[in-house]
Amino acid sequence: MHSINPEKDLIDLLTLKPDERGQLIQTVTDYYLQFLDRLPEGKAYLGDEDAGKGLASMPFKEDPYQIHQVFDVFHQSVTENGINPASGKHFGYVPGGGIETAAWGDFLGALTNRYSGVNFANPGAVRMENQVISWMCNMVGYGERSHGSLLSGGSIANLTGIIVARDYKKLKARDFDRAVIYLTAETHHCVQKALRLAGMAESMIRYVAMDEKFSMKPDALEQTIEQDLALGLIPFLLIGSAGTTNTGAIDPLERLAEIASQFNLWFHVDAAYGGFFLLVEEIKNQFRGIEKADSVVMDPHKSLFMPYGSGVILVREGEHLFKSNHYTAAYLQDVMEGQDERSPADYSPELTRHFRGMRIWFSLHILGISPFREALREKIKLSQYFYHEIQKAGFEAGPFPALSILLFRYVPSTGNANEANTRLLSMIHEDGQIFVSSTTVDGILWIRMAILVFRAHQKEVDFAIKHLEMLKNKLIIG
Ligand SMILES: *Cc1c(COP(=O)(O)O)cnc(C)c1O
Repeated sequence: MHSINPEKDLIDLLTLKPDERGQLIQTVTDYYLQFLDRLPEGKAYLGDEDAGKGLASMPFKEDPYQIHQVFDVFHQSVTENGINPASGKHFGYVPGGGIETAAWGDFLGALTNRYSGVNFANPGAVRMENQVISWMCNMVGYGERSHGSLLSGGSIANLTGIIVARDYKKLKARDFDRAVIYLTAETHHCVQKALRLAGMAESMIRYVAMDEKFSMKPDALEQTIEQDLALGLIPFLLIGSAGTTNTGAIDPLERLAEIASQFNLWFHVDAAYGGFFLLVEEIKNQFRGIEKADSVVMDPHKSLFMPYGSGVILVREGEHLFKSNHYTAAYLQDVMEGQDERSPADYSPELTRHFRGMRIWFSLHILGISPFREALREKIKLSQYFYHEIQKAGFEAGPFPALSILLFRYVPSTGNANEANTRLLSMIHEDGQIFVSSTTVDGILWIRMAILVFRAHQKEVDFAIKHLEMLKNKLIIG
């Protein structure tokens, strides 16, 4: 970019000149197309401890760098190492998103920089975000009075749900050490973190027993609540999972909803990973009861294939979300007029934020809903296929996948299985053509396969199976 000439440039210092703009558009476009071209052959993982050190050779300075220098260092330092979430062979943690239409939606949202926090500032942007929320509320089976908030991810969405539950139950600091939360050992750790952030570190967490598929046992839950009541404690929050991160398990939501209502608990469902599988009719019955949850968390940056930065909290009675988040201030008095559409800032801890709904709205309209549904259906089929094939390839498999996460491991005829799988895992990571992560359940180390990247198809899954078998054989030979 240009160096500053105070006489000529002072008016438009932060605006590109037409030729600079042209050059930037060209460079970005070339980069975009090359990035996509290189994906199929590229690695899913490249472990390199020195990655990013090149950034230090480009300190911030008064004058600009050349565009190509900036792109080179971005490319070398950021996109050429670590996990590649855009790769169809990324099967670790909970992968998912990064569809192109969402990137364009983000670009338009940022370029126009519309203020979607309060209705007064941009009623259209607010209506758009509310429309996205309504679509999701509908998907869950919520009625007219539901509402929600588009947030940055599942962690913040779970935190928001917990705060609403706390406020709705009118718990005060003096009650916290008698308040009880029910969940399972498979509940995502962000929930414990959120309880601490909500000021409730002294509250009691009961880890309810699970069945062999890692789902909460309703009978065990009932017993625990009754014991707690007898002890004079305050059972207040039940957290169910609709697709755990570890194993993809879904708790028996219908039964949990009944128990929550019987004992007057707030019922919160963490569907950060599993939520958008509701689009797939054939498996929807596994989610039965989710419509009775008081609040639900879903992550569009997982099963709706959005780029990172999209989580959502939905609340069956939207006014409870409002009560926990609404505030007013003198400098916002204009904002109070014309309240026919609900302002996101009244339903969220955030005031000014990225115009988050745009990426989702834009993608759903440019592509239609059908490709999202088909992609999710495909992931389920691929996971069931993987479950059978990986056993044929000489591995042991964990439970049949409820959605698209499964566990498998190699069991050697002699010696320590955990050690063997640890070694296999480091071979997989060192090679990097596919990426998988691991977990430990009851002392057993499992390799974890999460099939959710939208670029993961039959070809990629077949490749993964062959590749895993090859590395396992290499391990056996030593
Ligand atoms: C990913 C995940 C979370 C955390 O969400 P972030 O978007 O990573 O903050 C919470 N719960 C479940 C079940 C998840 O899979």
